[in-house]
Amino acid sequence: MSDLRPRPRVRSRSRDLVELSGPALSAALGEDSIVVLPTGAIEHHGPHLPLATDWLMADLISRAVVEEAAAGGQDVWLLPALAYTKSDEHHWAPGTVWLTAETLLQTVVDIGRSVAATPARTLVFYNGHGGNIALLQVALRELRRRFGLRTFLMGTGMVAGDGVNGPDEHGFGVHGGHSETSMILHLRPDLVDMGQARRWIPDHLLDTEFVRFNGGPVHFGWTSDDFGPDGVVGDASGANAAWGAELHATAVRNGVAQLAEIARFRHRPPGGATA
Ligand SMILES: [Zn+2]
Repeated sequence: MSDLRPRPRVRSRSRDLVELSGPALSAALGEDSIVVLPTGAIEHHGPHLPLATDWLMADLISRAVVEEAAAGGQDVWLLPALAYTKSDEHHWAPGTVWLTAETLLQTVVDIGRSVAATPARTLVFYNGHGGNIALLQVALRELRRRFGLRTFLMGTGMVAGDGVNGPDEHGFGVHGGHSETSMILHLRPDLVDMGQARRWIPDHLLDTEFVRFNGGPVHFGWTSDDFGPDGVVGDASGANAAWGAELHATAVRNGVAQLAEIARFRHRPPGGATA
């Protein structure tokens, strides 16, 4: 005899906040809950990578981090990834969909205000696009001051090739280079055209003493077409899925540990208020 009783609803193991009803969200979240907002980008990534590269990384890696952290008992939840962010360095390239700094700051402030209306008191940006970092650092304080949220910025931790793991990109492997191309070869190989992958390193900038691309005492403004017509900054020629898989495993392992420390982190010394 078949059992005709309605089956209990299958409860998703997912930590997608937006799969909950409003009342279920209010019941599920508490003051120790961590809400993660992935920030991607839709922007030109050269002839070999999809426009969605940074959005795919932010969405897929943060999802793996949050699911593994949740499986380990962490009280962590995921918002839908922000697709359109501050990609003005690629403004010249068709396919880039970008917000101004003002619009993105206002957008993340509005999202933070909405998170502050839930029981959760902690908002973490999980960033997949380097062009967002400076602005998100500003937003951290804005959200803390305005809404009293505990705010944090973490990310995929992509590093330039150093000559040991991949080609030496001399600090320039930030956009469409060895690590990003390898990561997309791991996550979505169907979207990569390695036949178009090349070395795009601005060799004429390697010998400067102070004005450096990354980490020097003098910063400079740039757009990605300053270095060449393809708008890529890095060396994609040796990218491979195995390195992407290794980067992914490292990003997930580090991300889970970082979320655990975020959960423990207190601004004030012991004995003070908990915020
Ligand atoms: Zn990118």
